[in-house]
Amino acid sequence: MPAVSNPKRTPLFRLITIASSAMGSFILGLWGLRFGFGDGLAGMPAGTIAGIIAALCALSAGGAALSFFAGVDESAEYVFKETHFDKLTGLLSRPAMVGKTAAAASETIRTGEPVYLIDIDIDRFKQINDSIGYSHGDELIRVFTERLKENMPEDAVIGRIGAGEFAVLLPDRDLRGSLEGFLEKLINQMMEPYQLQTHLQSVSMSVGIVAMPKDGVDPVLVLRRSNLALQNARASGIGNWSVFHADMGRVADYRQWIESELKTAFDRGDFSLHYQPQLDLPSGRVVGYEALIRWKHPERGMIPPMEFIPIAEETGMINPIGEWVLRKACSDAQYLPEDCFVAVNISPVQFMTRDFVGLVRETMASTGIKPSRLELEITETAMMQDRDRAAVILRQLADMGISVAVDDFGTGYSNLSYLIDFSFGKLKIDRSFVSRIDTDSSSGAVVSTIVGLSRALGVGIIAEGVETESQATLLRAAGCEVVQGYLYGRPAPLKIELGQMRSAHARREPARLVSLQ
Ligand code: C2E
Ligand code: CA
Ligand code: CA
Repeated sequence: MPAVSNPKRTPLFRLITIASSAMGSFILGLWGLRFGFGDGLAGMPAGTIAGIIAALCALSAGGAALSFFAGVDESAEYVFKETHFDKLTGLLSRPAMVGKTAAAASETIRTGEPVYLIDIDIDRFKQINDSIGYSHGDELIRVFTERLKENMPEDAVIGRIGAGEFAVLLPDRDLRGSLEGFLEKLINQMMEPYQLQTHLQSVSMSVGIVAMPKDGVDPVLVLRRSNLALQNARASGIGNWSVFHADMGRVADYRQWIESELKTAFDRGDFSLHYQPQLDLPSGRVVGYEALIRWKHPERGMIPPMEFIPIAEETGMINPIGEWVLRKACSDAQYLPEDCFVAVNISPVQFMTRDFVGLVRETMASTGIKPSRLELEITETAMMQDRDRAAVILRQLADMGISVAVDDFGTGYSNLSYLIDFSFGKLKIDRSFVSRIDTDSSSGAVVSTIVGLSRALGVGIIAEGVETESQATLLRAAGCEVVQGYLYGRPAPLKIELGQMRSAHARREPARLVSLQ
C-alpha cells in the first residue's frame, strides 16, 4: 500500500471551488436560455422570468452541492488514509489495528477458530534511532517491514503500532505447524543484520503473543496483553518470545514501579558498588575486581541489576547511572591494591552514546586512574549494533591504553568475523558454559574452542561464574587460567578502614588496605 499524500485543499480553496461551480452553473443556465429564446426573452412575463431565475438558482445550488460532496468524499478518503495507514511503511496504523483486532475477535467468536495477535518490538529502537540518526532509523524501519511481510503468510494483517513496534493478526490455520516453530523461525530471520546505505545494522527483538478468544476479545485489552507478554519476553533476554498468562499483569505493575522509582533512587543515593575478585589460578593472585551495581531501596530492600538495568536502558536513566558507576569505580580503584585493575560494565546504550570516549577520558582525568588499571566490560551485542562505530570507539579506547573485555562471550548471535575488526583485550566466557562444563561435554568443547580462539587472536581469557572445584579444574585443563565466581569470592562492598580515607587522598602513600566482606 503506497503512502498517502496530502491533497492540500485548504478551506479557502474549497470555498472558491464551490463558489465557482455555482457561478458556472448559473452562467451556463443563462447562456442556455439566451441560446434557446434569443431576443424573445425580453418580452416574457415577469412570473415566467422569476421562474426561470429560480430554476437557474436551483441548478447552481445543485452544482455547488455536487462540488461540496465531491470535496467531502475526497476529504473523507484522505482522513481515512491518514488515520488508517502508517506513512513510513504503508502498513496499518495503530487505530486501524484496533479495528482489525475487533473484527478478528468477532470472527473468532463466530467460528471458534483461534487468532493470534503477535506484538513484535525492536529492542531499544529509540537508542538505535538516536545513535544512527532519524533518517537511517526510518530506513531501518522500512527494510524491517519488508522482511516482516516476506516472513508472514499472505492472510496475516500487519500494522505498525509504535516507533519500532509491529502487530500481526494471524489465524491459527495459517501457521502450518506449531506456533513455537513459527516464532523461532521468524525471530531468527528478523534478527539477521540489515544492510542500510551506510552500514550493516544488527537488531534484536522481543515478541509477545495473545490467543483470541482464549485471552480475551476486547481489542484494547488484547493489545495490552500482547504488550505485557512482550515485556515479559524482553525481560528474559535477547530474541525471546512469550505467550500471555494472567500473572503478567503483576509483572507489569512492578516494571512501572521500577521505572517511576529509578530517578528518585538515583537522586537519593540508593546505589552502591560491590566488587568481585578475578583470580589468576596458577599464582593464586587477585588480578582485578569487577564492579557490580547494587540498588538498596529503603522500603523494598535489594533490587537485582537484572531487574532494573534493562528498564534504565529503555528509559535512558542508564546514562546518568552508568556515568556514576564509571566515576565511582575509577575513584574506588585508589583503595584497591595497586597491581589490580577495576572492571566496569558498560551498557550497550552507554557505549553508543555520542561522546562515550570523551566521558571515559574525562573520568580518568578527574579520578587520576591509570589506563592500565581500568577495564571496560562490553557485550558482543553492544559492539554489533553499529560495527563501524564500535570499531572506531574500541580503537580509541585501545589507543588510550584501556583494555576491553567482551562480556558474556558466546551468547551473542554474531558471526565471529567481527573479532578481526575490533580491538579488544580479553574474552570473558559466559557463565552459562561454565555452569555446565562438568555435566555437558558440548559446553566443555565450547570452552576449549573459545580458549583456542583467544590464543589465536592474542587476547586474554577469563571464565565467569565458577562455583565448584571441578569447574575450576576443567577450566584449567581447557587452558583458562583466570577465573571469577562464588568459589573465590562473592561481590562485596569495599570496606575502607578508618584512617585510610585520609591517607588514601595523599597519593604518595603506599597501597591502601581494603577488605571485601
Ligand atoms: P554480568 O556482567 O555477567 O555480571 C556477572 C553476574 O554474575 C553478577 O550478577 C554476579 O554477581 C554474578 N555472579 C558472579 N559469580 C557468580 C557465580 O559464581 N554464580 C552465579 N550464579 N552468579 C555469579 P549481578 O551483580 O546480579 O549482575 C547481573 C548483571 O547486571 C551483570 O551481569 C551485568 O550485565 C549487569 N550489571 C551489573 N552491574 C552493572 C553496572 O554497573 N552497569 C551495567 N551496565 N550493568 C551492570
Ligand atoms: Ca560483566
Ligand atoms: Ca556474564
